[in-house]
Amino acid sequence: MNKLELLRLKKIFRPKDRDWLGFKITHNNPLTYHHLFKQIYGNWEELDIKYQLHNGSLLTKNAHKYIHLLESIDHDKFVKLTELMRQLNQSMTPPDEEYYEKVKKIRNR
Ligand SMILES: [Zn+2]
Repeated sequence: MNKLELLRLKKIFRPKDRDWLGFKITHNNPLTYHHLFKQIYGNWEELDIKYQLHNGSLLTKNAHKYIHLLESIDHDKFVKLTELMRQLNQSMTPPDEEYYEKVKKIRNR
């Protein structure tokens, strides 16, 4: 699922040991592709390639479960983390310590 997008994001954002929400990347907790905004009507795979690129984030399996859990139990936190990941995506540069501090602040609230 979204293998090509995953590869493309990896090339740009060069993940090391942590995903975009600070979860550790391991053999049992690999990176997945998460959509930052909901699919629009129609076949989104036929849309502009930039749309797919800017809709993506790099989350491990566990972080992916976490963000979708938040979506239903703590929507405010979900929106704030999504906004942060969107900004990171737009920056087209790998996450730095400042970014991870912001993530931590929101996650620990
Ligand atoms: Zn997702």
